[in-house]
Amino acid sequence: MLKLPIYLDNNATTAMDKRVLDHMLPYFTEHFGNAASRNHSFGWVAEVAVEKGREQVASLIGADNKEIIFTSGATEGDNLALKGVYEMYKSKGNHIITCVIEHKAVLDACRHLEKLGAEVTYLPVQNDGLVDLKQLEVAIKPETILIAIMYANNEIGVIQPIRAIADLAKKHNILFFSDATQAVGKIPVDVINDGIDIMAFSSHKIYGPQGVGALYVRRKNPRVKVTAQIDGGGHERGMRSGTLNVAGIVGFGKACALRQEEMEEDNKRIVKLRDHLESQLLKIEESYLNGNKVHRLPHVSNISFKYVEGEGLLMGFNKNIALSSGSACTSASLEPSYVLKALGLGDDLAHSSLRFGLSRTTTREEIDYTIEQITKTVEKLRMMSPLWEMYKDGVDLSTIEWNHH
Ligand SMILES: *Cc1c(COP(=O)(O)O)cnc(C)c1O
Repeated sequence: MLKLPIYLDNNATTAMDKRVLDHMLPYFTEHFGNAASRNHSFGWVAEVAVEKGREQVASLIGADNKEIIFTSGATEGDNLALKGVYEMYKSKGNHIITCVIEHKAVLDACRHLEKLGAEVTYLPVQNDGLVDLKQLEVAIKPETILIAIMYANNEIGVIQPIRAIADLAKKHNILFFSDATQAVGKIPVDVINDGIDIMAFSSHKIYGPQGVGALYVRRKNPRVKVTAQIDGGGHERGMRSGTLNVAGIVGFGKACALRQEEMEEDNKRIVKLRDHLESQLLKIEESYLNGNKVHRLPHVSNISFKYVEGEGLLMGFNKNIALSSGSACTSASLEPSYVLKALGLGDDLAHSSLRFGLSRTTTREEIDYTIEQITKTVEKLRMMSPLWEMYKDGVDLSTIEWNHH
């Protein structure tokens, strides 16, 4: 039996795995100790649990335990990486290279650093969402201290050429930071093979609890340090003070261990469902896939349905299907997604996009229902759309101004 509503917004957050919750529960009640309490068994039990979690998190990304700094999530990790590197290395140079389709946590941290004297280059992306390596190399200067490029994009799922970027960074003796929130636990990520120096990721995107994440900070070749952005008791090797979220870390660790075991099998199923969804939706007239078709995550698809407003489309079925559209509601207006705009999409296509994020529990029934609902709704909305009628009458719509509202 199909159970509604269907959740296909797994890039925003994922449902916690029941096995993860079961592991966490004792750490809210009988094992409630502070992991920094060194004088009694309550503290020791908590510390053992935290170190086990650290090992599981490190193992998933091929890191050493000591290279994992626990945070409250990827937003904090992104901030700690960018601000912490800038503060630690600014005597060597003030230039940072990033890219226009990064998550807001990266872009806004960069904006903040610009106010403090940093110079930031925001690389454009190609029409498929990939960074151009030649442009990246041209942007490098003697003052460049950091390259910050995300592993995989949260809106279109495109995976950047991480190893090649790392090689460029190494060649020029620059640190390489990657926001890998969408990649870790979804595809194989290995900080050694990938050549990443600093990497942020988050528990709640991989079926773990919200409010916990990690920053990987490399300890050799090179040894990297970041200046703490939260001062206090000197937890996490002095890079992030604050009482550790023991239950959260236990859950994050378990989620990582499960991903390590199950990711490959899960992906075989997920990618089939995604491809089925995509092939059926792309049969709809004037529908377009956004982003590179090959270099991307197995569970993501971003499609524009021309002559239909994404928000209107969502309203057609959002009681039954949870999805994101390419329009972000800001206070005054509907702004088209900056990521889709960066791919060169016009406002019309950016506004008419939907982002599908599948999960390990997505079923064939859910996908079939989604295909049916979207196909029907697109058809219905186009029947009422003057633009669609004009398009069908052969009017060249590119000559018409698209108005914001
Ligand atoms: C979700 C996400 C974040 C933010 O992570 P939180 O743990 O929710 O703070 C950052 N970057 C990317 C790419 C994301 O997908």
